[in-house]
Amino acid sequence: MDAVRVENLTKRYGRLEALRGISFRIAPGSLFALLGPNGAGKTTTIRILCGLTRPTSGRAFFYEVDVFASPVKAKKMAGLVPQTINLDMELTVAENLLIHGLLFGLSRKEIARRSQELLRFADLLERKNHRVRTLSGGMRRRVLIIRALLHRPRILFLDEPTVGLDPHIRRKLWGLIKMIQQQGTTILLTTHYIEEAEFLADRVAFIDEGRLIIEDTPGALIGRLGEFAVDIVREKGLETKYFRSRKEAESFALTFTKRAETVTIRRVSLEDAFVHFTGRKV
Ligand code: ATP
Repeated sequence: MDAVRVENLTKRYGRLEALRGISFRIAPGSLFALLGPNGAGKTTTIRILCGLTRPTSGRAFFYEVDVFASPVKAKKMAGLVPQTINLDMELTVAENLLIHGLLFGLSRKEIARRSQELLRFADLLERKNHRVRTLSGGMRRRVLIIRALLHRPRILFLDEPTVGLDPHIRRKLWGLIKMIQQQGTTILLTTHYIEEAEFLADRVAFIDEGRLIIEDTPGALIGRLGEFAVDIVREKGLETKYFRSRKEAESFALTFTKRAETVTIRRVSLEDAFVHFTGRKV
């Protein structure tokens, strides 16, 4: 059984087609990344699955629960980490968690127990009684993530969880996300950082202009192009060619040695695959 099944989802905002028929499935316990440029439709997909926006058409299921026919049941199964930090800055971390837990119908006792466990898990225990206003950006993101986990959702939606954070904090969050997955939670993550999808995701879907272009494991997406890339810098711009082996790449590169172009050999990356399949840069 799939943890998430999305069938032909469309969304129109007036004349704008934000989603043009997106379908995908996520296996239980796996991490699925929607990778695409700004405006591709990533947030719209998450907002529809979390019951914040109605789709124009299409169907979605969480473990066979029809998300649009049984919205309350579906909402309890999902945790959402939104792109913007919507915590109450004037309240403490514990108070923010309490309010969220009460909204999900948890008892005060259960909220206190679960908060303690999650604060320890996210290395935030000492900040429990601090106002959110006094926390750094990375800490606020961690509070946002544990808040989404309070009611023990089976599926966690992370909308651009590391946007605007420095590389150290980003890596710390990646560790936290991996640990959440290891505990059995299925994760759908959106990002426009290719290395984030490459590091975290079991499967990646490239999404552009409301369409899902291609979906596979990061390794298989890269493998469709080859193993080695040769970049040739010419007056008219950069040209890249892909090869199955270093030997093939080298013999191709050698044909340029007597000319003025700069030629580099390197391994094929997920960015190459994205540019190749979508025809544009993230
Ligand atoms: P980003 O990385 O910027 O969040 P995204 O891939 O998440 O991009 P969406 O936010 O899903 O993209 O937006 C998809 C398209 O739908 C965009 O063209 C956006 O301007 C449009 N859109 C999103 N929400 C609304 C809305 N409430 N009303 C009108 N248009 C909208």
